[in-house]
Parts: sequence; C-alpha cells; structure tokens
Amino acid sequence: MRIGVLALQGAFREHLDTLREIGVEGVRIREPADLTAISGLILPGGESTTMRQLIERWGLREPILDLAGRGAPIFGTCAGMIVLAAEIAGDESPILPLIDVTVERNAFGRQLESFEADLSVPILGDALIHGIFIRAPIIERTGPDVDILARLDDGRIVAVRERNIIATAFHPELAGETRFHRLVATMASEHEDPGEGAGRRPHPTRRTQTARHHRCDR
Ligand code: GLN
Repeated sequence: MRIGVLALQGAFREHLDTLREIGVEGVRIREPADLTAISGLILPGGESTTMRQLIERWGLREPILDLAGRGAPIFGTCAGMIVLAAEIAGDESPILPLIDVTVERNAFGRQLESFEADLSVPILGDALIHGIFIRAPIIERTGPDVDILARLDDGRIVAVRERNIIATAFHPELAGETRFHRLVATMASEHEDPGEGAGRRPHPTRRTQTARHHRCDR
C-alpha cells in the first residue's frame, strides 16, 4: 500500500518521513499520473494560495476529487486543511471542497504566529497529541456530518473528520506524532481491495525532535 503526499510546495518531506517511520511507502505527488497507484493522500502545510495555483496549474483538482470520491482517505494539515475546506472565510473561493467546514486563515494573528498545545484526540487514544500551530487556521463552523476530533482549551475546533476526509489546523508531523498517519494508513488499507497491502505493519518507534526549528510556509 502506498500513500501519496502532495509535493508541490510546503512541508511535504516531514510527512514522507512520518510515513517511512510507520513502515508505509510514501509517494511524492506532483502531477495527475502520480495519483494512480496510491490508496490515500496527504496535503501538507505551506501556503494555501500558492497550493491553489499549483493544483490548478498541474491539473490536479479533478483527479484528487475523484480519488476522494472513490473513498480513499485524504488528510490535510494546516494549509492542507484550508485546501479541503468547503468554505474559506472572507471572499476566497474553496479549493478542493471535500469537508463541510468553514475555516479562517491565519486565525491567531501576528502576535501568535506559532504555538504548541497538547490536545485530547479521543479517537487516537488517551495519550495527548502534541500539536504545533504555525500561522494556523481555525475551524469556525462544522456541518452536521462532521466529527469534531479536537479542540483547544478555549473550545475552538482544530481537528475534524467527515467520512474519509481528515483535517487538522496543526502539524502532527512536525512533532514526531505518528498516530494520525497510522489512522490514515488503516483507512487506506480498508479502502483498498481486500488481500492487497496488508503486509506492512507500523512499528512503534517515535521520533523526537525540536519542531520549533521547522518552517512550513516556505
Ligand atoms: N498561513 C498559511 C495559509 O493560510 C497556512 C500555514 C501552514 O500551513 N502552516 O495558507
């Protein structure tokens, strides 16, 4: 089983590293042909306006919507969450409207460009998830079929799931956190034809690193 990582721009390498760490083959996605042999897709953080332009330029919009329509898991982090949102606050049109939420870009303002928070994400177990937020969006509204996976202490929503689409305002991949990727891999193997792809098992090692040194808005 292989999982694609959109590699047009932004923090895609860290997602490929995280997939490698859990024993899943990651594939860089740059053009439609790359999408044919994958069972799931990750949209990284970066700059959503640039991603919007590159998705259009490389003709990736329809093939990604098709992949999602076939039930493959799609996971967006930070700018990737903006890409997946049905509505973007302000007058921006949606990019790949796959999850019924409204997001506000750069919701934490300049004073708080980046911060870290430990989050309870019950579907991923009891241990808290360390979330790194970098010029992060927030989820302002969720549709009736959207599951809220995590909130900040003040109640604001920072992780959601609707069927096969998962989105987080933060970067688990910059914190050495593998559980979201394991969830995506599990969903991808369930989505695949039975009998295929079940061979590789995640292993439990965790990578530790100081994530503050990462930039994702390049
Ligand atoms: N601020 C970026 C945007 O609006 C997102 C930043 C990120 O992905 N860390 O597109």
